[in-house]
Amino acid sequence: MKSFLLLIFTAVLMVSCGGGANEASTAGEQTASETPSTETQETAEPQAAESELVQLVINSDDMMQFDRDELKVKEGSKVELTLNHTGKMAKEAMGHNVVILKLGTDLTSFAERAIAAVDTDYIPEGDEVLVHTKMLGGGESDTVTFDAPAKGTYDFICSFPGHYALMKGKFIVE
Ligand code: ZN
Repeated sequence: MKSFLLLIFTAVLMVSCGGGANEASTAGEQTASETPSTETQETAEPQAAESELVQLVINSDDMMQFDRDELKVKEGSKVELTLNHTGKMAKEAMGHNVVILKLGTDLTSFAERAIAAVDTDYIPEGDEVLVHTKMLGGGESDTVTFDAPAKGTYDFICSFPGHYALMKGKFIVE
């Protein structure tokens, strides 16, 4: 009887060991099949981005709004950013620009100093600005071309006095 129980015990051990080995090999196969596809994506995307000119268009209006609050590009790409002012109001009353700010810029502090920078179309002195379009009135457009900066999430605003509370968004470099 004892030897019979031992035999069952041994058989159970063998089954559980076998099961464990099967699970391990299945998991190994899954990992192996996932890895190459991930590598393919990682190598393919930057190559495409390097030769790519990314054209971004953002519209603004007399309601003091951008039509987008997120712009996304790949690191290393060349960016052509166009701002359209689709409204009718004059630049002095409803001016719009797009100002992309460097990482770590204090938005409130920047916007407050921008109010005083009337002579430079509300672009204050300092080194916080990564790139900016012209200040536009209704019916106008401006395009700027620049190299995408390092990966990160950058703020963009309209620096016309009082506008940044509504007119702001994220410029994301992946
Ligand atoms: Zn504005």
